[in-house]
Amino acid sequence: GLGTAVVLWLGGLGVLDGRITLGDFVAFNSYLGILAWPTVAMGWVINVFQRGFAALDRICAILDEPADRDPEGSGEPEAVAGEIELDRVTFRYPGSSRSVLDSVSLRIPAGSFCWIVGGVGSGKTTLAHLIARLYHPTSGEIRIGGRRLEEIPDQDLRDGLGFAPQESFLFSRSLEENIGMGMKFSDPDRVREVGRISRLDPDIDEMPAGWKTMVGERGFTLSGGQRQRAALARTLAPRPQILILDDTLSSLDAETEKILLDRLRRESRGKTLILISHRLTSVIDADQVFVLRDGKLVEEGKGSELLEAGGPFADLFRQQRLGPEPAG
Ligand code: ADP
Repeated sequence: GLGTAVVLWLGGLGVLDGRITLGDFVAFNSYLGILAWPTVAMGWVINVFQRGFAALDRICAILDEPADRDPEGSGEPEAVAGEIELDRVTFRYPGSSRSVLDSVSLRIPAGSFCWIVGGVGSGKTTLAHLIARLYHPTSGEIRIGGRRLEEIPDQDLRDGLGFAPQESFLFSRSLEENIGMGMKFSDPDRVREVGRISRLDPDIDEMPAGWKTMVGERGFTLSGGQRQRAALARTLAPRPQILILDDTLSSLDAETEKILLDRLRRESRGKTLILISHRLTSVIDADQVFVLRDGKLVEEGKGSELLEAGGPFADLFRQQRLGPEPAG
């Protein structure tokens, strides 16, 4: 056992037969003790380095990726604006055989305010992702202001189109930086302005360091509603001509949603505002509603008219008011 090992070790070292003195032995052991920690630490440092290199590899792979959408000599940058047209757009997720969008054609005039509605899984988010060019149609074409979406340089698209996803990401920075990050120049006044429009200001008063509060993974944790409003503010900040909000108001109560919608409409006058909504009460007043069902555009028109027509929109509305149908 252990005892035998120690005796053998001491024997091997020559302590037992007197080849070395006990003093040497103690000194040897204390050196061993001094060496132990650096040896362990070395293993740890090598490990950290290896992980660092692996991460660096992945980062380099991203940095090496060519910006494939910037045509050569595209001339002066020109932020996208104008009418959005979808022409028989079909979309399948890579590796899937099912079409999530099936030959959808629609027109959203410049400066209009429209809603895209439909049940869960009807394809609303996918449609928004296609317009924001996060994915490309499997077939069909999207045009903005007459330009084919795939030919628009990245910068023009970024300057003209703002998209607030359902789940927005907060970086480990201050709230102010998180909201201002889409702007070309830092503008604290604009950040505060969009904070007011998005109704973030009452929350900010309660945060430990106000606008300078660190958020993100290692910072102050925002509630779902606060995150949504922060995402809205971030999207508004650079004043895009086209604004797409994917269910961004869903965790607000109906009254706050109404206030925010009024402000949004005022803020985005003359701009195109596309809202995706799950909740239909706010949609009734809308001039332009697109109704999706199983990836198809099944109805479009004014909210109140659709409600009267008794078609898919009215069905959705009824279902929502009654809640999910009981099983059986
Ligand atoms: P909605 O926003 O109307 O709820 P989505 O656009 O999120 O609908 O989803 C439409 C359909 O596409 C759903 O059936 C969903 O399961 C499917 N889907 C969504 N994202 C993916 C993905 N990354 N890969 C494969 N299928 C997906």
